[in-house]
Amino acid sequence: SIGRSGGRVAILGATGSIGTATLDVIAALRRHDPERDWRAWSISGHSRIDSLGKLAAGSDPVPGTIVVSDPERETSARSTLKTHQLHASCRLDFGPEALVRAATDASVDTVVAAIVGRAGLESTLEAVRAGKRVGLANKETLVVAGPVVTQAALESGSVLLPIDSEHSAIYQCLAEARSLAKTTGDDNANSPCDRRFSQKYPGVRRLILTASGGPFRGWTVDQMRDATPAQALNHPTWDMGQKITIDSATMMNKALEIIEAKWLFDVPHDRIEVVVHPQSIIHSLVEFDDGSVIAQLSPPDMRLPIQYALTYPERLPCPAPPLDRGNFWEMTLSPADHERFPALTLGFEVAQMGGTAGVVVNGANEAAVPLFLAGKIRFTDIAELCRETLRSHHHESQPTLTRLLELDTWSREYAAKLAVKLVV
Ligand code: NAD
Ligand code: MG
Repeated sequence: SIGRSGGRVAILGATGSIGTATLDVIAALRRHDPERDWRAWSISGHSRIDSLGKLAAGSDPVPGTIVVSDPERETSARSTLKTHQLHASCRLDFGPEALVRAATDASVDTVVAAIVGRAGLESTLEAVRAGKRVGLANKETLVVAGPVVTQAALESGSVLLPIDSEHSAIYQCLAEARSLAKTTGDDNANSPCDRRFSQKYPGVRRLILTASGGPFRGWTVDQMRDATPAQALNHPTWDMGQKITIDSATMMNKALEIIEAKWLFDVPHDRIEVVVHPQSIIHSLVEFDDGSVIAQLSPPDMRLPIQYALTYPERLPCPAPPLDRGNFWEMTLSPADHERFPALTLGFEVAQMGGTAGVVVNGANEAAVPLFLAGKIRFTDIAELCRETLRSHHHESQPTLTRLLELDTWSREYAAKLAVKLVV
């Protein structure tokens, strides 16, 4: 069980789409829930230092620490931040270690992990080790180091609350099942993981992730082969950072989410499903043993899952708009197409393999996305490079963190080398 959180929040990746939404949520909580004195205790940014200064100056109260995670920018950032006339008590800290200091600061109650990609790993892991409440937007951390992060959470008592909307939805739908957790698992379970799942979530049959399908939902493979970065960046329902927007177009985002669900809920891969739901109103569903399905609905706005991670188990008024029932709203569900979106199959395979599979596919994908954006590879090459890199690696089921980090580097280099051989 988990108690009420305090109101001091470290926002790692504050300049991003999730980071700025988090600041918005905190400003509203400060009004609705004055007792807890909600505030951004520290905020970080990597490159857009002017935005970082604006965010700090616009926060009430001004954060105690501003972290510039790119060490190369220390000198320029000092002079940029000076122009924002921040309060004298506002401390500046630099480099990746500063992210870890912010994440483990004894004054901080909750860490919002909103850095994109594997770069968020160390700070998120250290927040977990320090026993913080962690609002996890940075899904790549679980994909890369799921076994290490979940073990660390067990040891420290840290609670990982998903910010990813699908996982937040599932977390919300599982509330009752969680309260029914048993001391022993189902004897008929077909694997140790299956037995643990039946023990933690009695009566739950499947977790069903919804996918918007992205901008290429109706496209043929031939059309996708010629898709441009501008077309891929044009997401129909969500306004997000570049990397996750491309991941949504390839459906690699859903693959990462399948793997994220595996680690977050300790769920066997064959109890996860994906359905396409273009309106992004149903954020995910849970099916129970009696066939009943419970879903979580709200308009596509990340401020809701962010706030839920901050205030859980309580619910408070949120700046995200409620569903507008005065208009027609259509909701459709359809099966996901693994033929046109091979990343999906990859996601299930990686969830089944566990161990080193996640880091390798994530590394290849993180290498491939910028290559696509730079016009060096085709859209359809992204999933291809991930598949090929996974195939070429030697799988281990119980890797150490050091091994995972080595494979992170290896997979990026391997995918980049493969990419050179491709002719655009
Ligand atoms: P974004 O690109 O808008 O922001 C990324 C943040 O990370 C920025 O603050 C940037 O300064 C920081 N950053 C980038 N590189 C860094 C590095 N090397 N070291 C330290 N910091 C670095 O991304 P986003 O859309 O806000 O996504 C953030 C995370 O949340 C991702 O893992 C994404 O998958 C996840 N997520 C986002 C959404 C969404 O709606 N945007 C939804 C679900 C999950
Ligand atoms: Mg999501």
